[in-house]
Amino acid sequence: MGGQDATMVLLDENGIRCDGRKIDEPRRIMIKAGGLKNADGSAYIEFGDNKILVGVFGPRDVHPKHMSDTDTGILRVRYHMEPFSVSDRKNPAPSRREIEISKVIKEALEPAVMLEKFPRTAVDVFIEVLQADGGTRCAALSAASVALADAGIPMRDMVAACASGKVADTIVLDVNNEEDQAGQADMPIGYMPSLEKITLLQLDGVLSPEEYKKCVEVGVNGCKIVYELQKKALNDKYFGTKSD
Ligand code: UDP
Repeated sequence: MGGQDATMVLLDENGIRCDGRKIDEPRRIMIKAGGLKNADGSAYIEFGDNKILVGVFGPRDVHPKHMSDTDTGILRVRYHMEPFSVSDRKNPAPSRREIEISKVIKEALEPAVMLEKFPRTAVDVFIEVLQADGGTRCAALSAASVALADAGIPMRDMVAACASGKVADTIVLDVNNEEDQAGQADMPIGYMPSLEKITLLQLDGVLSPEEYKKCVEVGVNGCKIVYELQKKALNDKYFGTKSD
């Protein structure tokens, strides 16, 4: 997180952000369910300039067998950024950041997935970030939920995700890459709207208790916007006129 000197650039006197958005306006979001023929379920999301593809496989046998659990199914998540997804080529080897994001997405999805319904098996979620522009963990988590639903995995709810943050002393919705670099705080949130439960909450930066509350409120509202688009993606595939 950067300092206050970026204030003038990040938010102008009319409350317009560096990419032309208002403080409570998310980036353009497009979600598509399905698309990968060889996966049991899949989804594609464009969230601003983020472009992410998710494939879900399973429930299927666990190899090696000792990794399985006789009482419950297990969820495995791999978040991977393509070397060409960012302007400075990313090393193809898994980075600490990718391992961390894989873990937080897995933990954010686990409360939603009824793993107890398929003991001894695994559900694999493969996330491929084709283009990254800040907020990939939220976009990936939202797409992963749609891909799991597309695979017919029993779920309590979908997890919708969106970040809020503090930019130029103002709480804003959906922090972009520039705001993430130069802003004061970034709070990715994963939320199950029907159950009103938060499954992911991270905070990079410093907030007062009031700002913290406001950030959660703004972020949860963003998740509700994403949730409608997740449902629309599934409706379009299963009940709409679009072929897939
Ligand atoms: N990023 C990058 N190179 C990397 C990793 C990340 O340019 O090796 C960029 C990318 O645009 C990413 C952003 O930094 O979206 C913010 O990354 P962060 O770790 O905050 O995760 P995210 O916001 O994507 O969930």
